[in-house]
Amino acid sequence: MENRNLSYWNKTAEKTAYPPLKRDLETDILIIGGGISGVTCAYCLAKKGISSVLLEAGDLCDGTTGNTTGKVTIQHGIIYSGIARKYGDEAAALYAESQNSALNFVKDAVNHENIDCQLMCNTAYVYASTIDDRSLVEKEYETAKRLGIEAEMIIKPGFPAGNFGMLGFKDQLVFHPVRYVTALAKSAVARGAKIHCSTKAVKVEDGDIKTVYCENNITVKARHLVMATQYPIYDGPNLFFARLYAKRSYGVAVRPKKNWPEGSFINTGEPTRSIRTHMENGAPVLIVVGENHATGRGEEDMEKHFERLITFASDIAGVDEVLARWSAQDYDTPDQVPYIGCISDDSNIYVASGYGKWGLSNGTLAGMMISDLISSGNCNYEGLYSRSRSDILTSPLKTIAEVFTPIGELIKSKLEGTEDLSGLQRGEGRVIRFEGQKAGIYRDFDDRVTIIDITCTHMKTELNFNSAEKTWDCPAHGGRYNTEGKLLEGPPKHNLEILYQGRFEDLIDKN
Ligand SMILES: Cc1cc2nc3c(=O)[nH]c(=O)nc-3n(C[C@H](O)[C@H](O)[C@H](O)COP(=O)(O)OP(=O)(O)OC[C@H]3O[C@@H](n4cnc5c(N)ncnc54)[C@H](O)[C@@H]3O)c2cc1C
Repeated sequence: MENRNLSYWNKTAEKTAYPPLKRDLETDILIIGGGISGVTCAYCLAKKGISSVLLEAGDLCDGTTGNTTGKVTIQHGIIYSGIARKYGDEAAALYAESQNSALNFVKDAVNHENIDCQLMCNTAYVYASTIDDRSLVEKEYETAKRLGIEAEMIIKPGFPAGNFGMLGFKDQLVFHPVRYVTALAKSAVARGAKIHCSTKAVKVEDGDIKTVYCENNITVKARHLVMATQYPIYDGPNLFFARLYAKRSYGVAVRPKKNWPEGSFINTGEPTRSIRTHMENGAPVLIVVGENHATGRGEEDMEKHFERLITFASDIAGVDEVLARWSAQDYDTPDQVPYIGCISDDSNIYVASGYGKWGLSNGTLAGMMISDLISSGNCNYEGLYSRSRSDILTSPLKTIAEVFTPIGELIKSKLEGTEDLSGLQRGEGRVIRFEGQKAGIYRDFDDRVTIIDITCTHMKTELNFNSAEKTWDCPAHGGRYNTEGKLLEGPPKHNLEILYQGRFEDLIDKN
């Protein structure tokens, strides 16, 4: 069956096939993860004449990079006023400067490597979606001016309808993320990087030499290990599950009926609406992303998230055709600043995560910073993005909410009831009782059913069925599994146990 949830970017890009790793390997630098963070790191190293090996579980851009809005901007919603309040103006100015360096990197790479990725310059706006939020936008404007960011405040903008003032940053970028990363990877390989797809790392052992065990019994040993996997596959001393909060969002690409004003837009507050124009063969495509929620805690009927985005697109520009729909997740941190750099002092393991849905600039920056750390032992902005900054102390309320909600979700999940099998539709998942225990059943479109133990292998929370993606998602820390119990992403390390597989009719007969 066709994957209904393939992003516009993955649908319209020609990806390069890289072979899986088939034998044990020793290398100086191992990068795990073939999204914008990992590929940029491999490219930066290759440009310095340093070779690396990159492993990717699926294909390049199968992760969040292939599922974005495609904005490369230093305009990250309401962020500068928050960083300035927590860490001072100097830190906020450094954040802007570092993000700007990532934008310039993308522009230079596109020019230098002649990358055809529909890179366009525009103004990126954040708009107040309620009258109360106007003061947030005004404060962000004041902060931006203080930091020297070229910004404009428009009080009666007219578009998007129903907004209460907006702040624009000029000279920002949009592009086709998969075409960009695919081309960057090709350039890295041409300069000596090695890429292996369909090679999933499952375990890391630290030491002077790091040992990485892969799913197909292959072992890789490396002196430097870059975890560009979104959620880090090795935690070290960092308790990342208490500092990285998984949030899911949805996206649609539509062929519009009429034009709308040029620019990138995102609102304040919830539900999030992020809009931009992409030009494909001279025709506009409207991209709308939003409906942000903690993973595993969305609508019971997840299709509603897509329906609401399509209604929003329809209100803006009319919808001639829905070209694609998708969803993906990214991780927030307590203080809105990502973690980029060594996982502990003097470690040769590097983390790049917590981008808060701004990973096209942050992932680029991570690739630049980590490649500098590897090649020279230091890099710009190390203190700002360090995992040992006072992130929790400066943001205690958010941390408490994010740490305690999963405990509530764990208790709730244990108390929630089960359903019986009657009326189970094709494509439907349900929580049932099977042989005396709580379990998840999924009936596929060929009438095969799979029953799995839905206790998350991370911290034992019971999973919820995600009807849009046909996955089992953990409402505590964002672990996700497919309907066969295979781990897809997040903090867990193991697959779920399959309790039963067979024909739906046979199961009904058995009962
Ligand atoms: C809906 C949505 C829209 C967004 N829009 C924007 C936007 O417009 N602008 C912006 O700046 N940011 C945006 N973001 C955020 C941004 O897309 C991400 O932060 C960024 O793409 C993360 O890149 P990455 O390379 O770190 O991770 P990913 O792209 O997720 O790459 C990680 C890769 O690692 C692989 N992997 C994971 N575990 C293993 C393993 N054990 N072994 C081998 N491989 C592994 C995965 O398969 C994956 O391909 C958006 C996020 C979402 C959810």
